[in-house]
Amino acid sequence: MRKYVIMGVQGSGKGTQAKMLREDLDLAHISVGDIFRWHVRQHTKIGAQVKRIMAAGDLVGDDLVEEVVRRRLGIHDWNYGFVIDGFPRNGRQAEFFMESYDIDAVIHLELPDDEVRRRVLSRRLCPNCGMDYNLIADRPEVEGRCDICGHELITRADDTPEALEARLTDYHEKTRPVLELFRRKEVVHDVDGRPPVEEVQQAIRKTLGLPPYRG
Ligand SMILES: [Zn+2]
Repeated sequence: MRKYVIMGVQGSGKGTQAKMLREDLDLAHISVGDIFRWHVRQHTKIGAQVKRIMAAGDLVGDDLVEEVVRRRLGIHDWNYGFVIDGFPRNGRQAEFFMESYDIDAVIHLELPDDEVRRRVLSRRLCPNCGMDYNLIADRPEVEGRCDICGHELITRADDTPEALEARLTDYHEKTRPVLELFRRKEVVHDVDGRPPVEEVQQAIRKTLGLPPYRG
């Protein structure tokens, strides 16, 4: 069984990398963000709680994150292991998680802040059909227009330089103690997040001693 944690700043592509890793290894991809989105869509009690928190402009607290992760892992549908994304959030959770689940490796996708700014600030969204674009890698055919429905593209409300700076500061502050703890346990694999997606995936597999990605 393989148990991995994937860490990386927003825009580092960790969700994409986790999905590619899961494919042929039959791992469960446990994404805290996806779990919360599911709760919101299904109108559960947790979903209502999350909506209230976000409407107030706050971040979901560490305790609530821990609760949903515990419940998710309690389903035990991960016979071959898992790759978890968005957890742990602090040193205490990291300590507990290491001890309870005997984590094999922590994949740390490294991306310089300048590259994060470049990637995140080039994101565009179609408010009509929900299609995502990226002015660097995924340009629309007609500038400013959705390829699918022709609607005018917008920037997400929280993709402003100011909001991004706040998220970057928050990420580094929160991640540092978690990463330090994992480093002391010698489970961290630093992977350069700058190359193309498939190259990054191969680098992850190489450092973890896994068979190469075949697409
Ligand atoms: Zn559209």
